[in-house]
Amino acid sequence: MEDSCIFCKIARGELNTRFIFESDELVAIRDINPQAPTHILIIPREHIARIDQLTDSNSELAGRMVLAANAIAKQENISKNGYRLVFNCGPDGGQEVDHIHLHLFGGRKMTWPPG
Ligand code: AMP
Ligand code: ZN
Repeated sequence: MEDSCIFCKIARGELNTRFIFESDELVAIRDINPQAPTHILIIPREHIARIDQLTDSNSELAGRMVLAANAIAKQENISKNGYRLVFNCGPDGGQEVDHIHLHLFGGRKMTWPPG
């Protein structure tokens, strides 16, 4: 837990953000600046700054983030047409919030290569 971290605050419920999914270890919220019709962030309650800090002890957590994203995609009716899952890591990866989160994008055709 980090006092100054926005995603720690959100996960603790301090900003009254609506959770579209929650479990004992994860929360999912709608992105405040959506880049697709559906843009959801899957966030662990535990503060881990970057995905390159994951260790073997986090492997189940990482797997459950992906499974949660799949379940939310079904719930949002974007599963059939498909969607994109993204982890940004560090400055070159485009990471702005230093608390790991999995982006779920859907509801439009994604382009490739990404920007
Ligand atoms: P990243 O660039 O991968 O670190 O992504 C951070 C994401 O968090 C961006 O898409 C932001 O729009 C989003 N974001 C930042 N603050 C909030 C917030 N308070 N509520 C919801 N999404 C947020
Ligand atoms: Zn945090």
